[in-house]
Amino acid sequence: MPSQTVRTRFAPSPTGFLHIGSARTALFSWAFARRHRGVFVLRIEDTDRERSTDASERGVLEGLEWLGLHWDEGPYRQSERSERYADAVERLLASGRAYRCTCTAEDLEARKQATIAAGGKWTYDGRCRDAAHGPACGPHTVRLRVEPDDALRWDDAVFGPLGQAGAEIGDRIVRRSDGTALYNLAVVVDDIDMRITHVIRGDDHQINTAFQIALYRALGAELPVFAHLPLLVGESGKKLSKRRDPVSVQQFRDDGYLPEAMCSWLARLGWSHGDDEVFTLDELASLFDLDAVGRSAGQANFGKLDWQNQQFLARLDGEELFARVRPFLEAATGRAVDDAPGLRALLELLRERSRTLADMAAQARWLVVADDQLELDAKAVAKHWKPDAKPLLAALARALAEVEPWTAAAIEGAFEAVRAANGSPGMGKLAQPVRVALTGSAASPGIFETVAVLPRERAVARIAAAAERIA
Ligand code: GLU
Repeated sequence: MPSQTVRTRFAPSPTGFLHIGSARTALFSWAFARRHRGVFVLRIEDTDRERSTDASERGVLEGLEWLGLHWDEGPYRQSERSERYADAVERLLASGRAYRCTCTAEDLEARKQATIAAGGKWTYDGRCRDAAHGPACGPHTVRLRVEPDDALRWDDAVFGPLGQAGAEIGDRIVRRSDGTALYNLAVVVDDIDMRITHVIRGDDHQINTAFQIALYRALGAELPVFAHLPLLVGESGKKLSKRRDPVSVQQFRDDGYLPEAMCSWLARLGWSHGDDEVFTLDELASLFDLDAVGRSAGQANFGKLDWQNQQFLARLDGEELFARVRPFLEAATGRAVDDAPGLRALLELLRERSRTLADMAAQARWLVVADDQLELDAKAVAKHWKPDAKPLLAALARALAEVEPWTAAAIEGAFEAVRAANGSPGMGKLAQPVRVALTGSAASPGIFETVAVLPRERAVARIAAAAERIA
């Protein structure tokens, strides 16, 4: 028998942004499809019309696109598929797998309370099961017939054998009295229509699976493989909270994390491959499998994300690094950053000293701003621009004007010569005032390299200006 094409799906509700937990689900579904040369389907579960707007959908898609999780089909939208759901309910009614129920909400509630008061557990008591209500029975819902001894089991690709007996589920509603489909019906009809072979989703949906299996059977469809992913928890071990934890993929993007780093970090939250820690999307696409997904909750350790980000910053080639930092630099300086001379060299020096692109931009800002617009850190000025620095800076500016070639090594020679000619003060006595003069702050990469990335005239101008400002 030819093996079936793997088809997975990601089925987000349009929440306006991509939650990191959902992003991990999407990543695993995507990677599984890629690994098996299958198809990755995107479906928007937008039946809650009030919360579903174009903008709320766009927010989710934007997050996926940024991560590089491209889908092959869709987006399908549940809001555009109500006829398919109506059809399925009609088929269930026609085959006798579902029936009309005229119990009112008040009646049901009263019976439920009575059952609970008597110490029982409520599932629908079957009152309308054999009533054979026809279409003209007045306001009614439609319920799926679930036999008490139905074994609604599945072999979960992550958790192993799981399941519930029909008695625990009862005859549940699939169509409301207003004619709209219930969520579980929509999901199953979609997954059947979209020929999904592997349903990979968050563990919070495990409670739906037994009933969904009853629906597959009633609709005469084969079951997909179910894989429930353990939830993500925060560093405290508690469920991630929107209030307490950074959970939006877009927020990480805006903070200057690389999408490659985000994917590698997400992959490691619950999946492993030997001792490896860093994975590109291509690697995930060839290595990912469900066998290596763990059963315990994935702990979102944000320090590890910083570490991943540094790994990927180190891997970018120079042009790419420039392209990625550029928008952050433009935001930080409020000016267009085309090709400031020295900028690329400075970014090389900053690669290992930066946590994020935003952080790198903040450390490169000094080179991009005009010489007379350099912001000076008042503390650094007070500490390092003391009167004894004045002649040192003036002498260095003169020496640098002559230095040949304009390299870190030759610049170091000029520093040494100025110190030797001025009573041999410690290197810090010269280097720190120069740092403040060039960058406005007391921290930068190595001083000779820092001087060398600036074009000579600008370095000399900044140092000479500092000498003049010191009283
Ligand atoms: N729409 C659901 C969610 O956003 C996913 C449902 C499913 O994967 O079956 O959590």
